[in-house]
Order: sequence, then structure tokens, then C-alpha cells
Amino acid sequence: MLSPTKAALDQGASGPDAATPGDLPPPAPLTSEDCAVFLDFDGTLVEIAERPDAVEVAPGLAELVTALSTRLEGRLAIVTGRSIAALQDLLGPVEIALAGSHGGEFRPGAGCAVEPLAEPIPAEIISTLERFAAANGGLLVEPKPYSVAVHYRHHPEALEALLTCAQGLASAHSLALKHGKQVIELAMPGSDKGTAVARFMSLPAFAGRTPLFLGDDVTDEDAFRAVRGLGGIGVLVGAMRPTAAAARLPDVTAVHAWLKAGLNPEFQGKTQS
Ligand SMILES: [Mg+2]
Repeated sequence: MLSPTKAALDQGASGPDAATPGDLPPPAPLTSEDCAVFLDFDGTLVEIAERPDAVEVAPGLAELVTALSTRLEGRLAIVTGRSIAALQDLLGPVEIALAGSHGGEFRPGAGCAVEPLAEPIPAEIISTLERFAAANGGLLVEPKPYSVAVHYRHHPEALEALLTCAQGLASAHSLALKHGKQVIELAMPGSDKGTAVARFMSLPAFAGRTPLFLGDDVTDEDAFRAVRGLGGIGVLVGAMRPTAAAARLPDVTAVHAWLKAGLNPEFQGKTQS
């Protein structure tokens, strides 16, 4: 069965503020009927691209997560900062549980309606950021239903002014400010990936299982802490850094291999591609 190793849990217990974050072990093979799996999307299931609409979805990815969800009797969800609509534009209409917009949208399972949990982002926030973006070299502003992201990958020199602008908006309108990889995001307060995981784990299908959350970005730390509080483990994807995760996989390719091995446990121990 998948049981997070005691060593992994012990390391997780040291917390994100550990003085010396030693490297973390890979997660135990996914062979259990007792676990629930939560997956970030960008940087975890797909490589991060120059533009958010330019990511390349590996052939068979939607089928892989759908089959794994079936094997886990529905206890698998993608938990992403993207809106659910944007996610399905890329991945296809996957019949699995989903949480979008950093927990602002929630679909408890295949065939269920999407529940909005957050209020829409006020239009004036978006227009203020669009004016800022136009005046600072043309930063990419990405409005979402419950948040707005500004991507500064091509204009790193604008970051300081962008943060000042975003912090001003956040405090004036009581918004949450998230700072991810080459992106800042203003979101309606009250939701994050941790609240999304907690909401899933309160559902009968998930309750009492061992949650695992795989993610790469700082916004995934909320979910790492949530799963740790529920007796599970976070799996950091990418290079080691201070984290609340208790295990680590080096990259998207390793995530795909781990998922495939979980789908085909008879291949455990063999090299996956
Ligand atoms: Mg990510």
C-alpha cells in the first residue's frame, strides 16, 4: 500500500522553516487503495511555457489522470490556479474532480457541476492592472473569474513597481496577493489550494484517506501544509527549496512516471517513460 514512509513524515514534521532543508526522498510508489491524490497543473503535469496559453499537454495526459482517478474511485483531483474552463481548454473535458482559481471554483467529482466559492474579481482591479501593464512595457494581464494574474516573465525590471501596485490594490480591496513563478496574482480572499484540499477531504469519497499533493510553486505550500495536517504528505516538484512538502520529484517527467507506475503497479520497480 502507499504509506508515506516514516522517514518522509519525520522530515515533513520539521516544517518549511527548517534551518537546513536537506533534500527530500521521492514519494513512496502509488499503489494504495487508501490514498487521495491532488495534482497541481502548471509545472507539475505540464512544463511551464512562455505564455500560459502556450503550454504543451503531453499526449495521453488526460487519459492518464482519468484512468488513475477511476482506479482511486474518484479520489484524484487537479487543483490549479487556472480557471476550470481554462484548464479544460488545454486538457480536454476530463471527467475527474477539479478545483480551479486557487480554490475559488470547485467540482467535487466527475459529472458534478462547478461550484463557485469565491466572489468575482471587481472589474476595476483588472482595469487598474491593465493600465499599469500598458505603462510598463506591456506586461501580460490574465483576468480569471476569481482572480487576475500579471505575468512579468518578459519584463522582470517591472517587478518592483508591479508589487507596489498590487500590494496597494490588495490592501485597498482586501484581496489576497499571491506571488508565483514569474507571475503575481490578486485573488478574492478566503480560498487557496489548502482550502480546496480540505474541502475535498471533507467529502465522503475522500474522508479518512491519506492525501498526497504534488505541486511545484509557492502557492502549493498552502496545500502541502493542509495535507500534512491531515496525515498526508506534500510532494515538491522541481529543485529543492524550503518547503512544507515531505517528498520530492525532480520534474514533470518524473511526475508522469510516478503516476503511470501507480496506474500499473505490476510495473513497479521498472523504469517508466
Ligand atoms: Mg504549478
